[in-house]
This record gives sequence, C-alpha cells and structure tokens, in this order.
Amino acid sequence: MYPYRTVSVIPELPAPISRLSELARNLWFSWHPQAQLLYSKLDPLLWEEVNHNPIKQLLYVEGAALKRAAADPEYLAIYNRVIADLDSYMGGETWFQRTCPNLTDQLVAYFSAEFGVHESNPVYSGGLGLLAGDHCKSASDLGIPFVGVGILYKQGYFCQRINREGWQEAHYTFMDFNEMTVTPARRPDGGEVIITVRLPGRDVFVKVWELQVGRVIIYFLDTDLSQNNKEDRQLTSKLYGGNQDTRISQEIILGIGGTKALREMGIFPTAWHINEGHAAFIILERLRELINQGLTLSTAREVVRASTIFTTHTPVPAGHDVFDSEMIDRYLGYLYNELKTNREDFMALGWDQERQGFNMTRLALNHAAFTNGVSKLHAEVTKKMFQNLYSGIPQEEIPIHAVTNGVHTETWVAPEMRDLFAKYIGEDWVDNISHQEQWQRVYSIPDEELWETHQKLKSRMIKFVQNNVYRRMERNFQPLELIRECAGYLSKNVLTIGFARRFATYKRANLLLQNKARLSRLVNDPEKPVQIIFAGKAHPADRPGQELIKMIYDLSLEEEFRGKIVLVEDYDINVSRHLLQGVDVWLNTPRRPLEASGTSGQKAAINGVVNCSILDGWWPEAYNGENGFAIGTAKDYQSEEVQDREDASSLFDLLEQIIIPYYYRRVDGIPREWIHYMKDSLATIPWQFSTERMVKEYTQRFYLKAALRGREFAANHFQLAARVEQFKRLLEEHWRHIRFCSVEVEQPPVLSVGSELLLRAEVFLGVVKPQDIIVEIVYGRVSDHGLDQMTLVPMEFIQESGDNKYRYSAKITLMRGTSGYTLRIRPNDKDFAHPFELPLIKWADVF
Ligand SMILES: *Cc1c(COP(=O)(O)O)cnc(C)c1O
Repeated sequence: MYPYRTVSVIPELPAPISRLSELARNLWFSWHPQAQLLYSKLDPLLWEEVNHNPIKQLLYVEGAALKRAAADPEYLAIYNRVIADLDSYMGGETWFQRTCPNLTDQLVAYFSAEFGVHESNPVYSGGLGLLAGDHCKSASDLGIPFVGVGILYKQGYFCQRINREGWQEAHYTFMDFNEMTVTPARRPDGGEVIITVRLPGRDVFVKVWELQVGRVIIYFLDTDLSQNNKEDRQLTSKLYGGNQDTRISQEIILGIGGTKALREMGIFPTAWHINEGHAAFIILERLRELINQGLTLSTAREVVRASTIFTTHTPVPAGHDVFDSEMIDRYLGYLYNELKTNREDFMALGWDQERQGFNMTRLALNHAAFTNGVSKLHAEVTKKMFQNLYSGIPQEEIPIHAVTNGVHTETWVAPEMRDLFAKYIGEDWVDNISHQEQWQRVYSIPDEELWETHQKLKSRMIKFVQNNVYRRMERNFQPLELIRECAGYLSKNVLTIGFARRFATYKRANLLLQNKARLSRLVNDPEKPVQIIFAGKAHPADRPGQELIKMIYDLSLEEEFRGKIVLVEDYDINVSRHLLQGVDVWLNTPRRPLEASGTSGQKAAINGVVNCSILDGWWPEAYNGENGFAIGTAKDYQSEEVQDREDASSLFDLLEQIIIPYYYRRVDGIPREWIHYMKDSLATIPWQFSTERMVKEYTQRFYLKAALRGREFAANHFQLAARVEQFKRLLEEHWRHIRFCSVEVEQPPVLSVGSELLLRAEVFLGVVKPQDIIVEIVYGRVSDHGLDQMTLVPMEFIQESGDNKYRYSAKITLMRGTSGYTLRIRPNDKDFAHPFELPLIKWADVF
C-alpha cells in the first residue's frame, strides 16, 4: 500500500455538551457507567462498533445526534452530574494528602510492559496488564503522586478469531493513535517529546504519548515515526511479538527510553517501581546518569537500589526473560565504557548461572531494596526459586515480601450491583472499599433482590455470548441451521460455570475434559444440568495452548454438548466483564503453585459470583470454608499426571456433591442457600482484594520508604551510599574469616517455664569490628525444616578478648514444650532496607 498520513478532527460539540471531548480523554470514564452512557446514548450501535472508544464515537457520530443530545433535558441532567463528579474527583482532597500532608515532593514512577485500562486502549495481553491498569486507577483514587510508563503497541496484542476448524487465528489491526484516547505528551516548553534510544548501529527515535487516568498519567512510548527506518518503526508494533531481538529492543525502549523520556519532561521520581522484569533496564539508565555525575558503579548501584521496588509476577520460567551474553554485547556493549566498568562486571549485574544468560529478573532483584511476590503463597514460591542467592538464610527471612493483588472495584462491579451496594451498604460505599465492617451490610440485601439482580446480569451475559458465537459462525460460513441454533444456546435457569483466562497449559482449561462421560452426565442431567462458558487467548507461539482451544471448540460442537459448553472468542476486557458479572460460578484450575495470584475471581466476587478454585494464588488467603469452594487441598505434587487426575476428580466430586445440589435447592422459588454463598463471598472478598488496599500497602510499605532512602542515600554527595557500599565490600571480603570460637550454656538444674538460659559466646571477627555485625540467639519451635516461630535475641557485647576475638552474652526465657536454640552472626543492618540485604550469615557450629 502507498503511504499516507491521517488527521482526525472531532466535530465541534454543541456548547451545552462541549466537555464531552475532554471527558473522553480521561479514562476516569472507564469506571463511571454514567459517563459511558453519555457516549453510548449518542448512538448505541456505533458504541459497540468502536469498542467503547469515546474518541471514535465523537469522530463518527452523526452531528444530528449531538444536536439532539444537547437539547435533551434528560441527557443534559446526566451530563451535568457527570461533569460535576469529574471536577470534584479531580479537585477533591485525597487519602494521600490526608495521610502524608508533608510529602508533596514524592513521585512514584511505575514501569510496565503492558497496561490494561480499558478495552478502547488494547495494549495488554492479560493479568499483568490488567493489574497495572487497576493499580493506576487506585493510585489516582488515593491521590498518590504517580506516573506510569509503558509502550503504545500499534497493533496491540492481537484479536482472536476462531476458524471453522477450531484453530485460533491471530488478527492484527493497526490503531490510529489520533483516534485513541491518548494525546502527544508535551515538554515543559510545550513541544512534543521525542527522545532517542541507542540500538545496535543506530539511534532510534521514540515519541511519547500520554493517557490520562483520573489524576494519574501513563506515558506511552512509540517508535512509529518517519525519522526511523521501516524495521525500527515496527519495534513497538506488537506486544510479546517478534523474536528475542524485538524483545530486548522493546525492553530497552521501555526501561532506558522511558527513563530518558521522564527526564526530558522534567520528571524526577522518588520511587521507581519495576512491574515485572521486562522493565528492569531502567536500572541501567539510572546507573548511567549517576556515573555521569562522577559516582563509581558500585556506589551508583546502592543509590539505585535504595529507591527501587520490584514486583515479580510468575514462577513460570518462560515469564523470566534471559538474553545471552552475545546479545548483551551487541545491544548494551556500549555501556561497559559508559558505566566505567568491564564486560564481566556488567554481566554480573544480572547474570544467571543456571540459564547462562543475562536475566532480567536477576537484574531487578539485585537492584531493588524492596522485592515482592503477588500473593503470600507466590512470595514463598519465589523465595524457593531464589534461595540459592541467600545461602544459609532461613526461608522466612529471605527478603521477598508479599503484596497480594487486588482489583479496582469500581471498574469491575456491574452497574446494577453498584446500585444494590448504594442502597444497602450506603451511598458512600465506594469511599470505604477496604473497610471490612461496611461489607457486613450485604447480609441486609433481601435474597429476592440480590437474586433478581444476578439473574438480570446473567441474561445480559447470555445474550452477549450468543451474539459472540453467532458472529463467529456467520463469518465461518457455518450451516444456517447451526447459526439459527445460537439464539437458544445457554439458559438462565441452568447453573453456569465461567472459565475465562489465558489458554496457558498450566491453567488446565481441559481439567473437566479429562472425564468426558462424567462431564456429559453433568451437562445433560435432566433435573440439575450444568453449562460452561470458556474464553481465552493463547499466545500465537503457544501451540499446546491453541490445541486446548481446539479441544474445547470441538467438544462444543458435539451433539451432547452443543449449546451447553460454549466457547467465546476474543477474550478482552469487555468479554471478561460480561462473563464475570453474569455466571454463577467462576472456575479456576491452575496447576498449583503456578498461578502467582489471579485476579479474575476477585472481579467475579464483587458481582456475587461464587469462586471455585484450586488453593493457589490469592485463593488460600480468601477462602474461609464458606465463601466459595476449594478444589483439592493445599498439597504439593511430584507428578503432574497424578496432580491433574486428583484435581479433576476432586472438582467433579465438588460439583456433584455440593455445588450442584446447593444451587438447585429452592426455597420459595429461589436458591436461598446458594444466595448465602454469594453474600459470604461479598462480605469477605471485595474489601480485602481491592487495588485500593493493595496500592495503600505498596505506598506504606515501599514507596514512602524508598523515597526516604533515595533521599538519604543521595544527600551530601551520596555520602551514605558510599558508606553502605564500602561496608558491604568489607563484609563480603572478610566474612569467610568470621567464626564462633566457643559457646557456653549455663542452665538451672531444674527447667521450668520461665527459667532462664545464659549463653556466652566468643567470636573471631578478623578486621571486621563488633559494630559491623550482630550476634544473636535464634530461639523457636523445632520443626522438620529447622526452627519455627523464631524469636531473635541480640547478644550483648561484653569485652574484647584479644586477637580480634570478642565475647558476647545473653539470656533466653524458656517456653513450654520442646524448643531449639542456636547462635548466629549477621551484618549490622542499620542502613539496610532489610537485615539480609547483604545475604551473609554465620551459624554457630560449635555445639
Ligand atoms: C482480570 C483479567 C485477566 C487476569 O485474570 P486471571 O485470573 O489472572 O486470569 C486477564 N484478562 C482479562 C481480560 C481480565 O479482565
């Protein structure tokens, strides 16, 4: 095709509704149904066609519709209320202002390879992106000074079409950014922001766009500029597309380019949040900046570490990027000089011995004062993954924290449920999402009303699914009788299970297909039938994932399953919203412990949908025996085959013996016991698993501390950073000489609860001084992996005994039962973010 440029001009809006274009460019609309109504009302069919993109809606809607709206008192009433709400949101006092009034110079920069804010802006593939989008929305709600940085993929992830044979086809459409809710970012002087990023043999130009999400701005990077050659223009074209070269280029653009872009706009973050390893190259650019100011690499590393937060999102190895050293030479070799170092030391910043390459997760882990997993279980799994980096350190003390994921409640709650909450919890329920008490009021919702609302959402969902299947069949030239059948697919009186997620094999979409006969009996039960809706994309390179889709597709066409097991194509935010608002049970079947958190079940819970899940990810933290269902037990398996078989049979049992009977047991025509599950779920899940709670946690546990550390480390020409660096070097060099010389225990002749043991130790420290270390008693319950419920008792320095030996002593008070104690030496952590920031430890071996 021949090249051309586009220009987009929004028609002049009638004065009474002139702010519709401003509203369209603030994604605040995406969690305010009344705001969306203002666009859909103009032309409901067009609204679906433009996939709920308000800018496109304004570009293509008939002028007459705008005039009509501007003269319609009912429309204007909504318009005025929405605009007033927007203004009061943007100008209102926030949680951050109230809790941290003196911290106005704070700024969190949050880097992520994907952001899923709304279907109109499809630069996400799944959970990671959705989480990033919801994180930004809550940062806005809470008033956290916060910017996001990501990539504006011209072709997004991909649109999924399922062909006649049941194979997924990936379709790519080009977005015209002029028709999107983004606008070009501006420098302080008003000019567009274009920076360059160095790639092998050339500089690539990168343009910066911005997306307004409430009070927060996400900056997006884009290389599709005429200054670039054809290949470079396509670097930011696809999310998770291309080969390793594309991948490393995108990550350089995101990390290095994103940091440069912030500087160009005069933005100086105080805390840097790396959302998954893809963004870890911000570390390299920040190191370069500091080394340019005269710091050594090792001091610069301390400065960067002090203010960096890293969130890791998956235990699946494919989720951790590793680049071979030849690639690092080619792409980043110029930095060896610029960072005033050599190849070997550069590689060490992120080297992964096992996979023999430069590992982005390692790079991040090595340069973040705060690292976390996304659920308690995932944090434990992550500690195990990296325990060889923390040799000798008890698992509970490995500095990997847990911040369990949540969802942006207002984004995912159905408008009808929102009205119910307003009526029974209180008009201000959205202002107190993380207040547990208010959710107790869901028990005051009359069963009939909750059920009626749910059934309404279910009907809407079924219609949506029928349309989705209808469109697919029509496109695939399926026989007319089959196409006509669609309108009868699914029934709102049948127990409906939803399964919508990425078709990665570990998520086991086929768990129920393991026993087809048993599944058929469930689906075809004349009294108590079940129907199941599946949706999800597989990565275009994931053949096994695509085979799963085909397997379900084939099944859905078989006589005995047709219209009862239904596959929905092109899973995106819009599809997900419909499904998780309208099914009865949300099914989650990952192979434990591979689901780091999962969030779709949290979205379902807000809508009174009941979770049925493997005890993986967030579910063990939420499940209390009454607010949903657990498949299997919290058990570890050696064999995947056994695990799959046992989980499948546990799921069938659960369905047959509990879920189905409960669902169909009616009292006065409604399933009161089932409704009780819905209410238990509403009372216990949304308040805990919201991004409001999550972002508060990130702020209080990490962002504020990181900002403070960053400032302290930089003060007085980086004095503290230099001291910490020297301290670490000293200990690393001499730690191997440190040892216990003797340990003596003095105990009373008869032991009883409350008796005291006196411990004395002599340690040899070599050139290390007593103030550099801590000698402590570890006291706890004896368990199969060492000591549990550890208490740490610091030992008191008594005297120097000559030859760099020192005496210590301390007492412990005995508790009931059998306990164990030992002694250890560790670095003094006065200036550390965590006692084992430097993973050195010496246990007493002289017992
Ligand atoms: C919430 C969501 C996800 C992530 O949910 P999981 O439970 O992790 O599968 C993925 N895709 C879409 C469209 C979502 O809305």
